[in-house]
Amino acid sequence: MKKIDLTIGIDIGGTNTAFGIIDREGKFYGDGNIQTNEHQNISDYITELCTEIKISLSKIKKEVNLVGIGLGAPNGNFYSGCIERASNLRWKGIIPLCDLIKHHFPDSKVIMTNDANAAALGEMIYGGAKDIKDFIMITLGTGVGSGFVSGGNLIYGHDGFAGEIGHVIIVPDGRECGCGRKGCLETYTSATGVVRTAYEMMSTYNDASSLREIPYSKMESKTIYKAALKGDKIALRTFDYTAKILGIALANTVAITSPKAIFLMGGLAKSGDLLIKPTKKYMEKYMLYTYENKVEILPSQLTKNVAIYGAASLIWNDIQN
Ligand SMILES: [Zn+2]
Repeated sequence: MKKIDLTIGIDIGGTNTAFGIIDREGKFYGDGNIQTNEHQNISDYITELCTEIKISLSKIKKEVNLVGIGLGAPNGNFYSGCIERASNLRWKGIIPLCDLIKHHFPDSKVIMTNDANAAALGEMIYGGAKDIKDFIMITLGTGVGSGFVSGGNLIYGHDGFAGEIGHVIIVPDGRECGCGRKGCLETYTSATGVVRTAYEMMSTYNDASSLREIPYSKMESKTIYKAALKGDKIALRTFDYTAKILGIALANTVAITSPKAIFLMGGLAKSGDLLIKPTKKYMEKYMLYTYENKVEILPSQLTKNVAIYGAASLIWNDIQN
């Protein structure tokens, strides 16, 4: 019987670790998840994760050729296979995650990168960038991440951390960022950045708004999105400002790698045209004439299990190169 080629994609998040066993076409043969922060000792966590994976693998009724294991993790370094000083994980310092997993799967290729880079590869293997060699993936979630693909290759840079558009300073001496500096893109276009903008708009403008009744701790970018759909002026101003900041950042970014398309992913990207249309307008307004009307802004074509597809794509991408 012919063996089926499968990869395992593992998505390590701050609270949950999810995995999927999938083929090149994206079909799932098994999946599962465990709590990320339950174990004080990293090797206990790895043992639980690998045991779960092995149980899932044993349930597959066909003979499996495990092509490799791909990992998407915060601050995951492609070159070293280590998670380096991730702020939202309980294990501090530098964790040799790929080596620890390889201990349980000695015959398998194990590759890791950060979540946004994995998302870019997922778009390339399974999503809307199948035929695009030059594109940028921007993830607009709790934070803002990015992955740059140039000539069909993901750019890692000399140290493995290329593509941190979220921490490009877009407003000098602007809002305080979690990285310790001020004015990073992330402080304006992440989910919390949008909430901060809404409050700024409420203090600057007198427009009546349903958002005024919501306390800061309860406000979500989704609430602002829903208000904007109903024509709430403060919410619309918030989206316009967010789009302007993002549009300027994208106009600058386009000048570096000349992408054909920019994909948006994450909670805020689900706002669709409400965000994409004005972002495109501002990007064109601030862009060098050389690139005018050549770059598309598109929503990601991956809608579910995005991080698992992204992590698994690390392996498919590796073996086809
Ligand atoms: Zn920053």
